[in-house]
Amino acid sequence: MKIVRFNADGATRVGALDGDQVIEFPGVQSTQDLIAGGAAAMDAARKAVASGAGRRPLASVKLLAPVVPATILCSGSNYTDHNKEKANTPISGKEPEFFVKTADCVIGPGDTIVHDERLAKKLDSETELAIVIGKPGRFIPVERALEHVFGYTIVNDVTARDRQVRRNAQGFTWYELGRGKAFDCSAPLGPCIVTTDEIPDPQALRLRTRINGDLRQSASTGNMIFSCAQLIHFFSVNFTLRPGTVIITGTPGGTAWSVDPELGGKWVGGDGSEPLVPAKGYLKPGDTIECELEKIGVLRNVVGSA
Ligand code: MG
Repeated sequence: MKIVRFNADGATRVGALDGDQVIEFPGVQSTQDLIAGGAAAMDAARKAVASGAGRRPLASVKLLAPVVPATILCSGSNYTDHNKEKANTPISGKEPEFFVKTADCVIGPGDTIVHDERLAKKLDSETELAIVIGKPGRFIPVERALEHVFGYTIVNDVTARDRQVRRNAQGFTWYELGRGKAFDCSAPLGPCIVTTDEIPDPQALRLRTRINGDLRQSASTGNMIFSCAQLIHFFSVNFTLRPGTVIITGTPGGTAWSVDPELGGKWVGGDGSEPLVPAKGYLKPGDTIECELEKIGVLRNVVGSA
């Protein structure tokens, strides 16, 4: 099932996406409530879909981020081709990178990514598979980790590269991930959460990014260095994962960083599975970003000026 959150008739509602229609789940106040309700809540949701009541045309509603997690647990440097195209640090790819975004970073499908030059002159986008946790847990073993997943969605890990990547006069490079990754509009999320029955293997999905129609990223999620199960284990050592917690899994090659030698970037052309169009520069107002994940859909946002 594809879970959506939407605004209709002045109220926020949770429901299912079915083709070009949405179906409201009566009495469900939030996506977290639906997820925490477990099998009984999903049975009620399936009945709502089957009943045919409460259907609306998708075009008549405003889709929102399907979940607004208090915390988004973020990994990076998780695809080899991305590590080759950027300014590597000694630990890149050797252990999962760890940073957080919060609910304040989240915007929905169709919302504007505000490009404010007081924050960043080098704004970049990263399409990522996002894991939505269902069953809570702490210290979750890798071999049981996927049992804790409710579903999958898409996050664009919008990044202020000139805040993230720091280099000193001796050529030493380090990352300031807090400063470069967490800010208003830095986590477009959606358009829907696809439940695990439709995605039994999260490491077998094609991921693509198009900016103004140019194919800028394309890779299989099978290229991840640390799998979804390993990342769930990793983050659950620090945090109790809760229903609706989101974990993002890193981005493959093709970012604008790859054409920015000033920040240590070099063009490698992704993993070679599809010909990519190199960026001409970083994001600018008017750009349309489409983050696509097979079996989930397309998360589309436009960049606007402050
Ligand atoms: Mg990222």
